Order: sequence, then structure tokens, then C-alpha cells
Amino acid sequence: MRLTVNLRTCLRSGQCTYMHPRLFREGEDGFPVVLVEHPEGELLEEARDAAELCPSSSIHLLDDDAAAAN
Ligand code: SF4
Repeated sequence: MRLTVNLRTCLRSGQCTYMHPRLFREGEDGFPVVLVEHPEGELLEEARDAAELCPSSSIHLLDDDAAAAN
């Protein structure tokens, strides 16, 4: 699975970087930067949690085939 953030819809709320610092850090422009592009195990669970909690539904987990096609 590939973890991505849609920066066109992200509200820069900072929730993902605050709640999941192992997966995201805040970039200089205030947008989140993905730290682990292919999370596994516990980090994959965290990524699912982050996607669920994002207020603008901007965090996505794509299966690798779909990600390669994009
Ligand atoms: S939680 Fe969602 S809206 Fe907030 S900074 Fe992260 S990706 Fe953007």
C-alpha cells in the first residue's frame, strides 16, 4: 500500500503530523510530508487511522498497482 496526501484538498490542519509523527512531518509550506511511503504492520494501522481522521479526507492508501498506474 502506498500512503499519499492530496495537497489540493488538504486544509493544513496539522492533525496528521501531530497525531502520527512517525508517518508525517510538517513541511515548510505547512503541508504534510509523507515520511513512510509504504507503511507496513503497525505503521499501516496508523496510516489507516490517519486517513479516517483527516477532516478533508485527503489521506489515501492506494494499492501499489493503482499507485503505479497514476
Ligand atoms: S489531517 Fe488531513 S487536512 Fe489535516 S494536515 Fe493532514 S492531510 Fe491535511
